[in-house]
Formats: sequence, C-alpha cells, structure tokens
Amino acid sequence: MQEKNSNLKSRPPIVVVMGHIDHGKSTLLSYIRNESKPLNEAGGITQHISAYEVEHKDSESKVHKITFLDTPGHEAFGGIRKRGASVADVAVLVVSAEDGVKPQTIEALNSIRTSKTPFIVAINKIDKPEANIERTKQSLAENEIYIEGYGGDIPAVPISAKTGLGISELLDMIILVGTLENLTGNDTLPGEGFILESNMDAKKGISATCIIKNGTIKKGGYVVSGTSSAPIRIMENFESRKVEQATFSSPVCIIGWDNLPEIGAPFTFFENRESAREAIKIDLEKQEKQKKQKKTEENADIKNVPLIVKADTGSSLEAVLSQINKLGTERIAPKVISSGIGSIGESDLQTANGKEKVIIVGFNVKVDPLAKNVSERNGIEIKNFDVIYKMTEWLKELLSSNTPKM
Ligand code: GDP
Repeated sequence: MQEKNSNLKSRPPIVVVMGHIDHGKSTLLSYIRNESKPLNEAGGITQHISAYEVEHKDSESKVHKITFLDTPGHEAFGGIRKRGASVADVAVLVVSAEDGVKPQTIEALNSIRTSKTPFIVAINKIDKPEANIERTKQSLAENEIYIEGYGGDIPAVPISAKTGLGISELLDMIILVGTLENLTGNDTLPGEGFILESNMDAKKGISATCIIKNGTIKKGGYVVSGTSSAPIRIMENFESRKVEQATFSSPVCIIGWDNLPEIGAPFTFFENRESAREAIKIDLEKQEKQKKQKKTEENADIKNVPLIVKADTGSSLEAVLSQINKLGTERIAPKVISSGIGSIGESDLQTANGKEKVIIVGFNVKVDPLAKNVSERNGIEIKNFDVIYKMTEWLKELLSSNTPKM
C-alpha cells in the first residue's frame, strides 16, 4: 500500500467563490489576484483565462499555493455538477454583512451542498458603517447555515474585500480546509480534469481552459474531452505564458481543438494520437448507446410535461436546465422542447401553438406584450421566475399534480 501511494503529493486547493449578486465576489477575487504574489513574477499578472493561481504565506511563513476559479461561480459549477463531480475542492460563500442571506445565497448553498463541497462563509463588507456581523451570523443560522459558535462547524471569516481586512485569515482557512480534506494528486499519471471554458476565435481557432485535477499534461501529447480533441502544441498558463507541461490544480489554456469542448466536461491526456483516437471512438460508442437507451425510454410509458425555457443569460439557462433535468420521476418528467436566451416572444408562442399543454417558463426575462396577448388568447401558460428554487418548487408541484395514477 505504502509503495502504491509513494507518488501521492499534496495538491493545492481549487476554490470557487459564490454568493448573492453584489455581495462582493468579484471584488474579493480581484483583491486576492492583485495582492497575492503571482507564481511567476515578471511584471504584473495579465490574466486571460478564468482561473488563477496565488501563493499564500501562512503565519509560520510557509508558502501555499491556491487556485481560484474566476468565473461567476455557478457557471462552472452547473455543468460539472451534472456529471456528479465537482471541480472545486473548497467553496467560499460570500455573504454581505449589510444584507445577510439572500435568495442567491441559498441557491449557491444548494449547489455547494449537492456537490458535497466543503465551504467557508466569508462575511463581507465589514468596513461599511451599516455592517452588522452578529446579525449576519443570525441570518445565516435562520437559514440553516450553522457556522462555528452558532450551533455548527462551518467556518466563517469576517472580511472586507475592499480594504483587505481579514483576507489573509480567509486564505489561512482555505488552506486549513484543504489540508483537512487531505487533497492529493499523482503527477506521474496522465493528466485529467475539467473544461472550465471554451472559445472560438477567428484567428486563433478553438481554445479551452482546462483545470487539472490529477496527473500531468505535456506538450507533444493530446487532450480529449468527449469527442473533441487537441494536440498539445500551444499551451499557456493563467498568465498567458507558454508552458511545456502542467500538473494538478493548475489551469491551462490549450489552443487548437478540432471542435468546441463542452463546459464542465471532463478531459483526459493521452501520450499519442492513436490512444486519443481510441478514446474518442469509445466515447462515440457510449453516446450511441445512450441515444438508443433514450429512445427506448421515450417510447416507454412515461408522461411528459412539455416546456419552453427562456433565460436572461447563457449561464442562467444552463443552471435552469440542469435543475429541470433533475426533476423527472419514473412516471412523469419535464421535457424541454425548446430553450433559448432573451425575452419570451411570439416565436416561442408559435413553437407552443398546436402542441398539447406546453408551458413557457422564463427566468429573469421579460414577456413581449404581443406574446402576452397571444398567450392569453390561446390559453398558453407563461410562468416567470427570478429565483431558481421557486421555479423548481413550482415544477415539482406541477409534476406531482399531473402524475398519472397507477
Ligand atoms: P458581486 O456581484 O458579488 O461580484 O459583487 P461586486 O464584487 O461587484 O461588489 C458589489 C459592490 O460592492 C461593488 O460596488 C463593490 O465595490 C462593493 N464591495 C464589495 N466588497 C466590498 C467591501 O468589502 N466593502 C465595501 N465598502 N464595498 C464592497
């Protein structure tokens, strides 16, 4: 056993910052990015990808690395959660000391709990005159977030993302939680991890940011994610510097994919083209099998509730769809017949028209007045939400009242 584990090394934590809008996630991420010493110091950091690495000195002057995901939390989370894994090792739930717990705090908390990610509460904006740390702690307890000293064991650190107060303590806490999680990796294994984002650029072609969870990826090899792949010729670190290889907890940008890999999908490194091709073949076969299975299921005796889903942004749409997909039972399931970004308009009603009992579900979107008229005339129901859990509650209710009797 000892022998087998001799290649295991401790691995820096990968951290996601989540919380209600305006509670200070971006301010915290930029404070940490600007204040912490970059790993390869040569001029300031110019960060082009949605994750960065920092070094943090603890009270005994020991240096620790930490990787931060610089994405609006749930975006990366949503896609990755679908696959039952979590890219982040530790989550920081930012709660404003002025406002306390808000709807998106709960949403973030639900994501964190579903993915079983250990987390720390950062009570932010404590520099502000209206800040009230005690009241915020009570508000957390009222919402079943039991922090240390308030009936639970979730660490809470008061901070100001603006002045930097308490941020060193927050980073200490991240290291401590990471240590307690016993995060390890083996850099002699082929690299694997998740796609954080992917982009198409007319000049550069397709690039993707990959976060490595284990193993090493090297120039000259190949990365495969689903049926997308890239030979590793151009690989850059978070400071846009070309690198020959990279290992666990580091984000890298790989340029030259044959098609856009899906955000949140896992990737694997292969030494040569043949093994990369073999992996793609296996994935294609798997997809084919899944398609067949889906068809069989569709033909089975399961009642569908058809939905048209509209959301304000790509990331909220992804989050909404991932919630909807979770809701089916053996006898009834929501079926998204169309989805898109933007307000609910006439074309959505055209899609709904003539079909049986389609419901249009909007998230943070407007309903065009004309569409409203048409929907009322044709008896097409439109439901609009601005909080995800309210939407899921409503859908659960709808499904249960429509479930066919045995
Ligand atoms: P996000 O939506 O969670 O990313 O929130 P932002 O980081 O954009 O912050 C929202 C607003 O709160 C901005 O105007 C920030 O300058 C301000 N803010 C964030 N953190 C603090 C803080 O600790 N103290 C003070 N005074 N303002 C803050």
